[in-house]
Amino acid sequence: MIRFESITKTWPDGTKALSDVTLDIPRGQFCVILGPSGAGKSTLLRAANGLMKPSTGGVVIDGTPLTAASEKQLRQRVAMIHQHFNLTTRMSVAGNVLSGLLPVVSTARALSGWFKPEQRHKACALLARVGLSPAHLKRRAGDLSGGQQQRVGIARAFMLDPEVVLADEPVASLDPKISRDILTLIRDAARERNTTVLCSLHQVDLAREFGDRIVGMRNGRVVFDGTPAEFTDERVQGLYHGAQWDDTHETTTDEEASPRLAMVA
Ligand code: ADP
Repeated sequence: MIRFESITKTWPDGTKALSDVTLDIPRGQFCVILGPSGAGKSTLLRAANGLMKPSTGGVVIDGTPLTAASEKQLRQRVAMIHQHFNLTTRMSVAGNVLSGLLPVVSTARALSGWFKPEQRHKACALLARVGLSPAHLKRRAGDLSGGQQQRVGIARAFMLDPEVVLADEPVASLDPKISRDILTLIRDAARERNTTVLCSLHQVDLAREFGDRIVGMRNGRVVFDGTPAEFTDERVQGLYHGAQWDDTHETTTDEEASPRLAMVA
């Protein structure tokens, strides 16, 4: 379970990226963080692996508060899949997948390229799981297509059997067919291991298709939290056009009829 407790983030230039975000994400859930660009999705995800230090509030992962002292150990349990894949493009596909072990192997060992046979076997099995053939193992990662590179990114993320996978706009640079394939791979690999996935997206159709739950963010706040079935077209409008939508519906003071308040479950 991931718990975000009253997280606020104000950047040094005064930008308020997150305002009092509190969320509990149970183990095994595929939770989509949806919202327009600048909503705070990436900032929230990066709070969960210590890459972003909140101004106030905290993160607790399976009972362990994320602190400077616990961060290194938690990094082994929280993996990340990136929008731009973040592969070492000059390195082989196999080397990139094995780099998922970096939180637990010494730098010297990693640099020498010496990994245990079972670790190499696991890398091969994961590559097969994401649909890449043994012929890809020795190819330069940078020579693969975008979709294939993200498959490598997924295999790398699962090398340490993480409890949590953070996927930051993992399909933003991929076409719709490949996007579905990639999200299917993340979802299925996570289900096989009961891994919690926190996946930021900006595409409503993909959020509805893949999310067990959708958390809608706007201007650093959670403005919708519910199931795909509850995320009606009206609520989509509220998420993406909230201010304008509010202005045109200000004829009632009934809380249930207030889009902003009614949206948050
Ligand atoms: P999203 O992922 O939803 O597109 P982000 O979390 O990347 O949104 O950004 C939220 C807000 O924080 C935006 O206004 C963005 O410009 C701002 N922001 C992000 N990173 C920084 C930073 N390092 N310094 C200043 N502002 C930042």
